Amino acid sequence: MRLKYLFFCIIFVFSVETVSAWGVTGHRVVAEIAQRHLNSKARKELKKLIGEVPLAFWANWADFIKSDTSWRFAGKWHYVDLPAHMAKDDFIRDLKALPGENLYTQILTLQAQVKDENLPLDKKQTALKFLIHLVGDLHQPLHVGRDEDQGGNKIQVTWFGKPTNLHVIWDETLIDFQQWSYTEYATVLNVADKTQVEQWQNSSLEDWFYESHVVSDKIYDNTAPDSKLRYEYNYMFVQDLNNQLLKGGLRLAKILNEIFG
Ligand SMILES: [Zn+2]
Repeated sequence: MRLKYLFFCIIFVFSVETVSAWGVTGHRVVAEIAQRHLNSKARKELKKLIGEVPLAFWANWADFIKSDTSWRFAGKWHYVDLPAHMAKDDFIRDLKALPGENLYTQILTLQAQVKDENLPLDKKQTALKFLIHLVGDLHQPLHVGRDEDQGGNKIQVTWFGKPTNLHVIWDETLIDFQQWSYTEYATVLNVADKTQVEQWQNSSLEDWFYESHVVSDKIYDNTAPDSKLRYEYNYMFVQDLNNQLLKGGLRLAKILNEIFG
């Protein structure tokens, strides 16, 4: 009897735990794809910075530290909030004008920090860990979402009958539904030809944000509150999900190749 009770407690603790940002698998997929697109110079410099561990090892650190109150100030770094259905020029203007620190300002700042030759090693390592994570978040469409529903966190839905919210669906539920490990996922996605890779890599950071905005509009338009999501939802969105993960990985590689190149 007691054992049974303990078992249910454990199940409960694990089921109420939530993470915000691509779940652990999503961030690792982005980092692993990036790893496979690094040039030799970047690989060498990264070894000096973080040793032999792959980028995926640090991909979720920026979420884990959220439990530490001394890092609370960095919570805002994981997302931007902007209004729905914006034209590209308006979107980019407003993105650049957002007040305070956010996902956009921090990706710029962290790139400069990782590049800064005068920055102490530990600060540079921290900047790199954040950068690996935040380029992932940039590609989770609901991290470029709307303020009024906190990027879908306040939109209740069910997934095969189980209550959850739209943000969690996009952080991890859809990813976990594919049932790949992060390395398998990186392998099955990493098949874009050279032209496509270059096209995705050579657009601007602002373009990348806008692409997430467009996907997030599509998500909002197709997921009313209290939607009962099942197989059809996966079928409707799995290609967008996979493209975002792949683009995230390719662009993280592009950023790191440029920093160290
Ligand atoms: Zn995050």
